[in-house]
Amino acid sequence: MEKKELINSGKVKSVYSCEDDDKVIIEFRDDMTAGDGARKEVMDNKGSLNAIISTKIFRVLEENGIKTQLVDLPEKNVMVAKKLEMIPIEVIVRNIATGSLVRKYPFEDGTPLDPPLVQMDFKDDEYHDPMLNDSIAKALKIATQEDLDKLKELALKVNEALKEFFDKAGIILVDFKIEFGKDADGEIILGDEISPDSCRLWDKETLDMLDKELFRKGKDNEVIDAYIEVYNRIMTDEEKEKYDM
Ligand code: 5GP
Repeated sequence: MEKKELINSGKVKSVYSCEDDDKVIIEFRDDMTAGDGARKEVMDNKGSLNAIISTKIFRVLEENGIKTQLVDLPEKNVMVAKKLEMIPIEVIVRNIATGSLVRKYPFEDGTPLDPPLVQMDFKDDEYHDPMLNDSIAKALKIATQEDLDKLKELALKVNEALKEFFDKAGIILVDFKIEFGKDADGEIILGDEISPDSCRLWDKETLDMLDKELFRKGKDNEVIDAYIEVYNRIMTDEEKEKYDM
């Protein structure tokens, strides 16, 4: 499938139209950003690693009955996806308190959160993704109460499936961010990506970070090795042979 027009160029992905009106082509670039795009570096293979990891995770979620935007991965860094009207909400699920949660609230870093905590942020760099509650989201007219309830329900389902999936790979799913959109029928579908860019992943034994937090902390030279470690742990031998990363 050929790319047509550029619809949207985000911080790390570019979305193109294609001959099929129901679909889009998402190109995962090698850009790495932090601080609402304030810091940016280019890292070889980062786009491919994220696209391949995200594709694997979306397939696992589909097997768990969660609908995703994924159609196919025709090239290592190019995903064909269902076209969605994206909802500008970042749904964050946390199994362990860390990051912005411990900066804003009196949680001790590393405290397990059981039941997991679901948080929603308004996706808007200009406003630095402020935290939402249902009233604000409804007043902004970005979601109805029914939508918000569905987002929370789906986010917790994603968490259950992925906690188990990563656990088998010796990885703790600390927290993650997901985004949803509506398809032509108005159904809420999981979109965007789930990758080490959007999750905190810790080695189960050593608690070493295997995600973008390394970049946020300035450990730029460790980032790609960490992403490759995640790739090596979650992909089957057959998949590794196919993608050859
Ligand atoms: P925190 O709010 O603690 O910074 O992030 C919570 C989780 O959501 C982390 O796994 C983080 O990677 C993810 N997250 C939050 N905001 C963003 C964002 O704007 N982009 C990406 N890629 N991930 C985010």
